Amino acid sequence: MSGPALPAGLRKLAPAERKALWERLYFDGTEAAAAGNAGSEALELSDLLVESAVGALTLPLGIAQGFLIDGRRYDLPLAVEEPSVIAAAGYAARIVAEGGGFVTEADEPLMESYVYLEGVSAEGEARLASEGAEARIRAALGAIQGSLERRGGGYRGRRVYRLPETGLVALELSVDVRDAMGANILNTAAETVKSQAEELSGGKALMCILSNASPRRLARARFELPLAALAPFARGFSADEAARRVVLAWRLADEDPARAVTHNKGIMNGVASLAQATLNDTRAVEAAAHAWAARSGRLRSLSRYEIADGSLRGAIELPLALGAVGGSVDLHPAGKAALRLLGDPDSRRLARIAAALGLAQNFAAVLALVTGGIQKGHMRLHAARLAYKAGARGDDARRAADIVAAGGAYTLAAAEAAVASLRAGAGS
Ligand code: NAD
Repeated sequence: MSGPALPAGLRKLAPAERKALWERLYFDGTEAAAAGNAGSEALELSDLLVESAVGALTLPLGIAQGFLIDGRRYDLPLAVEEPSVIAAAGYAARIVAEGGGFVTEADEPLMESYVYLEGVSAEGEARLASEGAEARIRAALGAIQGSLERRGGGYRGRRVYRLPETGLVALELSVDVRDAMGANILNTAAETVKSQAEELSGGKALMCILSNASPRRLARARFELPLAALAPFARGFSADEAARRVVLAWRLADEDPARAVTHNKGIMNGVASLAQATLNDTRAVEAAAHAWAARSGRLRSLSRYEIADGSLRGAIELPLALGAVGGSVDLHPAGKAALRLLGDPDSRRLARIAAALGLAQNFAAVLALVTGGIQKGHMRLHAARLAYKAGARGDDARRAADIVAAGGAYTLAAAEAAVASLRAGAGS
């Protein structure tokens, strides 16, 4: 059953009025509203960041500890609603630390933006690709990218090509966006050269827009874990056999797109949660990663594993356009706090941390899957959710979850019965 309609002119109301209306109409009482919608300071920020804000979602924020990345210890802030993501990341991080941790690297933060032109003749295309055009484009961009250039970034070159199906001509601009995610910088760059592109090509621009693909802004992470160090985590398997099964699981994900989707989703559990905690654009990061995984025309694994010299080796490579400044990142206090915890990294360091996290998340999932499955841990967390749904809070919620887990029936009815039995016990 749907709730009462919100007024059509919602956006014209004062933010506090919108929030009050939203909470009164759609939450089950003030306690639920307080748990599910953040307070008035958060509302002010939401109202600045988005249109028609009615609140700020209280997404769980947790810390995955135990990461050793390039010789340095890290605690990672993750914002995510899915149970087990943070526990799994920390679990894998601690295993990998036994072998010396993660080694990472990241490319320069190069991104591409496009002016798509229609009605361009072969001569116009050649003019746009000429050296003279290059000078004009560079000059136009130099005029708006002074601060980026002072930071070592800015325009890095262009490419002109025709798309055979639509006949559109693309002017691709490469820009080093330094510590920004870069979307606005790139869109501004394309719009800045639009008139020059039209004049030079004789065509008309259809649109000016960045691409989120970021295929030259890759980050990589790897680890090497001696099989002896894996042994305590092999859950009934020998270390050799557990490692062999991990490698086979990777080959499966690389072969079967049906498995690759979920394999890569597991990687993004970590990466997107870090992106969320730092107030980065999670959709941009997701789109780029999945496109990269499908670049051969078939969806494949973003990670890979092998056994060599008595060790299990894991590695990952993916595009990571994460901002350490700009957008909402350095505006939102939660984003700033998250970055502070990470030691105020630049965008490349942040990408390297995210790559290590993605690999840790993947290793945790694959190791669990091939050594007994993931459901047991998940169901324990599910029991806690059921207990909450059944009305239990605090210690009672933990006790009710224990009762549900011990009974093995993960249903709301079982949770309600557990809560009722606890209340009866407390009343007697
Ligand atoms: P932005 O617009 O805030 O630009 C970055 C700013 O930071 C610039 O003004 C730059 O001068 C400044 N800056 C300070 N120190 C810097 C440094 N060391 N390196 C680089 N810049 C520095 O942010 P942006 O990164 O250009 O754009 C990101 C925002 O754009 C996100 O909110 C994203 O959601 C949004 N967006 C995304 C898309 C998309 O992904 N398709 C499209 C449009 C907008």
